[in-house]
Formats: sequence, C-alpha cells, structure tokens
Amino acid sequence: MELEKLIRDVPDFPVKGIIFKDITTLIKDAGGFAEALDRFYEMARDKGVTKVAGIEARGFIFGGALAAKLGVGFIPVRKKGKLPAEKISETYDLEYGTDTIEVHKDAFTKGDNVLLHDDLLATGGTMEAACNLIEKTGAEIVQISFLIDLTFLKGKDKLKGYDVRSLIEY
Ligand code: AMP
Repeated sequence: MELEKLIRDVPDFPVKGIIFKDITTLIKDAGGFAEALDRFYEMARDKGVTKVAGIEARGFIFGGALAAKLGVGFIPVRKKGKLPAEKISETYDLEYGTDTIEVHKDAFTKGDNVLLHDDLLATGGTMEAACNLIEKTGAEIVQISFLIDLTFLKGKDKLKGYDVRSLIEY
C-alpha cells in the first residue's frame, strides 16, 4: 500500500507558505492505519524497547498504538503546563521565541530503552529537545520514528548518532 497517497496536503496552514501534511486522512483509513502501525512494529520489534514515548499531540496516535503492540508502556511528552505531577522540562528555540516540553520525573527509569515517536520530522528542533529531555532521566534512546520526513529541511542533521526511521519521505 502506498501510504503517501493517504496523506493530504493542505496549503497555507497554519500560516501562508507552509504545506501542512495532514495525517488524519491516513488514520481514518483502517487499512492505512494498520499498515503503518505494522511497519513501525517491524522496525522496532527486535530493538529491546522498554518504553515508547510520543510527542504531543500527533505523536500520541501511533506512539500509543505501537507501545501496546510491542507490549510496553507509553510515555506522553507534553507541552508545558499539562502534566500534573513532578516533572522535568526542556526549552528549545523556535523560529520566533521558544517552546518547552515536559515529562513526569518518574516516567523513565535508568536502563529504559526508549523508542521516541512523532508524526513528522521538519527542522528536527522538537525531536532534538525530546531526546535531550529523555536522556536527562538516564534512559537510552534506541530508535526514533516518524511517519513523515520532510528531507529537504534536513532535520536528520540534528539527530546524528540516533537510529532515525520514517515511513514516508518528501
Ligand atoms: P520540527 O521541530 O521543525 O521538526 O517540527 C516538527 C513538529 O512540527 C512536528 O510535531 C509536526 O507535527 C509539526 N510540523 C512541522 N511542519 C509540519 C508540516 N509541514 N505539516 C505537518 N506538521 C508539521
């Protein structure tokens, strides 16, 4: 199945000049959702993953499903101010200003092998920050997966040294 055919391009969202890659058209297709999940599972099944972490919000969709399929727990990496218990945070630069992501302090234990997932790799800033955040806990990142890699933005350059995978490349 050609998964890219199930991705919808929405021009000028959220701002003029951006072509938004809309994955809702893929996940509403039962066959497409299952096929993408199977491919993520095959990439990860022999990596010794002990936790899957997904980045808010679209990283929760496949991240959660993949964790269940791998038989491990799921950790939400959330935007600032959403998590209720004691947490650790990481701030990173955006084009204008900064953003902060957080996880609960007790989300990972030293020795955890983490698979980090998000829907799309653009500049790589978000994922780089998520890697820094998780490594602060003493956990190790064994794989990073994306549904989509916008390769022309060279986000992978920020993720050197990691096992970075994607199902669809533009
Ligand atoms: P970046 O930190 O630049 O790699 O941006 C990645 C984050 O922004 C991901 O969580 C994506 O969901 C979102 N994102 C960036 N560009 C796009 C795009 N063209 N279409 C859909 N989502 C995007």
